[in-house]
Amino acid sequence: MALIVQKYGGTSVGNPERIKNVAKRVAKFHAQGHQVVVVVSAMSGETNKLIALAKEVQANPDPRELDQICSTGEQVTIGLLSMALMDIGVPARSYTGGQVKVLTDSTFTKARILSIDEANMRRDLEAGKVVVVAGFQGVDADGNITTLGRGGSDTSGVALAAALKADECQIYTDVDGVYTTDPRVVPEAKKLDTITFEEMLEMASLGSKVLQIRSVEFAGKYKVKLRVLSSFQDEGEGTLITVEEDKNMEQPIISGIAFNRDEAKLTMLGVPDTPGIAYQILGAIADANIDVDMIIQNVGHDGTTDFSFTVNRGDFAKAQGILETVKAKLGGREITGDNKICKVSAVGVGMRSHPGVASKMFKALADEGINIQMISTSEIKISVVLDEKYLELAVRVLHRTFGLDQ
Ligand code: ADP
Ligand code: ASP
Ligand code: MG
Repeated sequence: MALIVQKYGGTSVGNPERIKNVAKRVAKFHAQGHQVVVVVSAMSGETNKLIALAKEVQANPDPRELDQICSTGEQVTIGLLSMALMDIGVPARSYTGGQVKVLTDSTFTKARILSIDEANMRRDLEAGKVVVVAGFQGVDADGNITTLGRGGSDTSGVALAAALKADECQIYTDVDGVYTTDPRVVPEAKKLDTITFEEMLEMASLGSKVLQIRSVEFAGKYKVKLRVLSSFQDEGEGTLITVEEDKNMEQPIISGIAFNRDEAKLTMLGVPDTPGIAYQILGAIADANIDVDMIIQNVGHDGTTDFSFTVNRGDFAKAQGILETVKAKLGGREITGDNKICKVSAVGVGMRSHPGVASKMFKALADEGINIQMISTSEIKISVVLDEKYLELAVRVLHRTFGLDQ
């Protein structure tokens, strides 16, 4: 008998029929004698709808109230799934994040989990019930409802698995595992049987939204056995996220291609080339709680230099406004921006022992006439910033170049 945490994403609970199917799957595990905690997302599209609704009333929604609104999507699905389970004879009980309680900090819309109280869940599990928990949400020390950022139900699932010391955390979604790249963009993409935490962390942080990055961080930190599976298929082992590289296998150089459309670039031209420039520009951006990704400072000439960086597209306008203020203070010639860029990355631990990956990547892009605007590398990834119109082409070409189609 095992304790299993299963998380079902939005598409998997997208309508009553699908919720009933989830109930059947859960019932199967329950009948085998396992203790099951189920974490669910809102029905697909629901969170987007709630955000849009909020924005109709307040263009820049108050974060606390937005979380109050957005958390309702998951409150619906926990109730529905519990009813579906009871209907087929499985005792079940639903919990909101606050009822569990999943304690978070007070950073509304992107709160971090601080602790999880397992007492209620344990009591129900021991009484033979299935516990159904709302993903994506928690409660802060003052009792305010918080949410964990888009895609945050993955993190709820893994965090609950860590707290309960579950034997396995299963993430059920609309694909049957983690692929070499998003199968929606490259139909030839191949499912991976295993991927290391390190690689999964890079893939997630570079835009592969199959798992929210924080869920992978949690799983790595608390050694949660994590698996991604299809909620629409009964067969298959999905993808296991592993701690160790498989030493018996010849490690592929590149394991996957990740991409992110959600990027924007800003450049401040002709700023004085003096100590403290990077700090003054990026300090102001950080003070506004905007995450900066890639940064380039050009070689200076005539006492001035150009300074570029990328931010999340949603922060583009805000960052532009801040730069105008900084420019007025520091002196600078011009601010330019582009919010039609994307980032494409090749990820693989095999890169460590194989030089020449970057040049292979740059050549493949050059052969297609794709201009690279920015580059950043680490031990196990190479990322390039490109015009958004090249995204699909670049992903396909790199997928082929690194032999991932085979
Ligand atoms: P859920 O609602 O179940 O959380 P998501 O839409 O958040 O599902 O994540 C699943 C989607 O992630 C897939 O439909 C797929 O299009 C996308 N995806 C992106 N990169 C990958 C990848 N490398 N492997 C598998 N799926 C990926
Ligand atoms: N419903 C939330 C979202 O759409 C959380 C999740 O699905 O993981 O972002
Ligand atoms: Mg998701």
